[in-house]
Amino acid sequence: MTIRTLKPRSTEVGGVPIARLLPNKGKQPIGAWCFLDHAGPAEFAQDDLGVQVGRHPHTNLQTFSWMIDGEILHKDSLGSEQVIAKNQVNLMTAGTGLNQGISHTEQSVFLDNADSSAAHRHINMIQLWIALPTDQQIERSFHHYPELPTWTEGNVELILTTGNYQSVSGKLYQAPTLQYSKLVGIDVHFLEDGDITLNLESSFEHGILVVAGELESEGQVYKKDQLLRFDHDDMIGKTSIKLVANKGTRLMFIGGEPLNNQVLLWWNFVADNKEELKQSVIDWNNGHERFGEVDSDMQRLVAPELPKGFKG
Ligand code: MN
Repeated sequence: MTIRTLKPRSTEVGGVPIARLLPNKGKQPIGAWCFLDHAGPAEFAQDDLGVQVGRHPHTNLQTFSWMIDGEILHKDSLGSEQVIAKNQVNLMTAGTGLNQGISHTEQSVFLDNADSSAAHRHINMIQLWIALPTDQQIERSFHHYPELPTWTEGNVELILTTGNYQSVSGKLYQAPTLQYSKLVGIDVHFLEDGDITLNLESSFEHGILVVAGELESEGQVYKKDQLLRFDHDDMIGKTSIKLVANKGTRLMFIGGEPLNNQVLLWWNFVADNKEELKQSVIDWNNGHERFGEVDSDMQRLVAPELPKGFKG
């Protein structure tokens, strides 16, 4: 099996250091997973507001937030107000086409815990985007998933954040998370030194993000914030992958069926064609009602013009 290693691009979003793995040098999405940011881990000083992402729109995608540690308040143009905490998923669906769209804000909340509050002024989160199949008419929505299937295999804890997964022991797990194409997402956490074998779906493309620690597989070592990518053709005859790691190593295993449509990204927009990206920039910057209003006094971000010669 050929595994390609994608390296992160360092950036910053809303005051937090980010390792961006997707999009990555013209590489296509992994299934419908088209964007992948690892935010943090970061600690905030007492006078630091933490994550502050102002009002901005999305189109033709779902934002999928997987919280490893910390708390973020999500507010959107549907009126949703939801704090996401450790081991939870927030899923916001923008809907498809020029009549749909959504806007939201994200900001740190520092909960007043009985123990040292300083210990809770931090963030460690994975944010992914899932491109929507544009041949379906999909409505905007927001869902919060506080409880997800969780189990252990040997020394490894697994949490199924989306999709169905059959473990090597044959047990089937099903996450409640809303999907519009076939996807899987599993948080893999080594509680002790050990190994685990993960099943692969033959029709899927797969990826593994090293969130913390170091991973060994098939004689190669992978470091924190590297993304292993293996496509359908790389997997012929391969139905599983063995992963070896030390205590504390954490991974995000993703996979999915490729969409039938093209996936173009510009700023916070996804579309299957350039004209629709252009129109979404115009609509957002002119306050079009398709993006609604967020009940927030946070800054409203401005969409940059699509560059001439944009190819996606
Ligand atoms: Mn967003």
